[in-house]
Amino acid sequence: MALRVGVIGVGYLGRHHARIYAGLDDADLVAVADGDAARADEMAGMYHCRAFERYADLLPLCDAVSIVTPTTTHYRVAMDCLAAGKDILIEKPITENLAEAKEIVDTADRKGLILQVGHLERYNPGIVAAADMIEQPWFIESERLSPFLGRGIDVDVTLDLMIHDIDIVIGLVRSRLMDIRAVGACVITEKIDVAKAWLEFENGCRALITASRLAPEKKRELKVFQKDSFISIDYQNQEVKRYFKTGTEIAFDLIKPESREPLKEELSDFVRCVRERRRPKVSGAEAMDALDVALRISALLNSSRV
Ligand code: NAD
Repeated sequence: MALRVGVIGVGYLGRHHARIYAGLDDADLVAVADGDAARADEMAGMYHCRAFERYADLLPLCDAVSIVTPTTTHYRVAMDCLAAGKDILIEKPITENLAEAKEIVDTADRKGLILQVGHLERYNPGIVAAADMIEQPWFIESERLSPFLGRGIDVDVTLDLMIHDIDIVIGLVRSRLMDIRAVGACVITEKIDVAKAWLEFENGCRALITASRLAPEKKRELKVFQKDSFISIDYQNQEVKRYFKTGTEIAFDLIKPESREPLKEELSDFVRCVRERRRPKVSGAEAMDALDVALRISALLNSSRV
């Protein structure tokens, strides 16, 4: 039997969750909920499911839900879904603070419910293809730049954009974080809009992570430097370039994995994890680690605000 899924919040990203679930073989999109009733109705009309203004009314129809509401609402919505016994996928960042994140993680654990967090870059074919080439990074540099879209501005850019790369970097380095330095600024909004963070790990690896929501053009790139090779991952084009030493020469590979929609990969994996009662690859622990670092960067930046 197909898994009965619902989507709570069908704004910019939630409508893609609805579209993808509606097309999956092993899931049935049974309902969507949005505080904006017209949005919920529009999605329900498109995907032939029920629409609700209050998410509490959607829960009895579903086995599992995606929570795609603004970050500041994740805690309340997630706790209500868990109280109703539902498996949940919460969009990133899991919450805006660690205490709330921990309560969600502990509650899901105690109730034996599946909790996945939407760090979708883990499913980017470029990252998946590069994973086998990365052994012990010495230096990592990432850039995630976006023109100002007015979205995600309920939180600092560290929690909105940078957290994607924080999650990828700490997953690749797998060593204790010893020190963080950061610079950044509030420019257009009351929150940090542009930031650079320098991370130092116990094993000697260093990472420079840049995120901005005020760039002229979109860019999403991760460069990994390690002994005898340099790997550059372009998230947007889902492409990997590898430069590596062969004797005294430098060789070059361009790897173009089969193009896939990361969000579809992520939601398919969530459905599989729920059906097989398996721990997702980005569960509460990974999401809390990334949130912890993002919050420490935010705290550094906010303490030096002028
Ligand atoms: P959005 O503002 O476009 O959409 C949010 C929707 O939630 C709106 O339609 C709003 O009416 C609805 N909503 C708010 N409170 C609600 C409630 N209590 N009950 C029901 N509906 C409610 O926001 P967005 O850009 O889609 O972002 C949503 C979440 O997704 C955020 O946490 C954001 O960080 C995350 N996000 C993740 C990625 C990614 O790459 N994984 C990309 C974009 C956004």
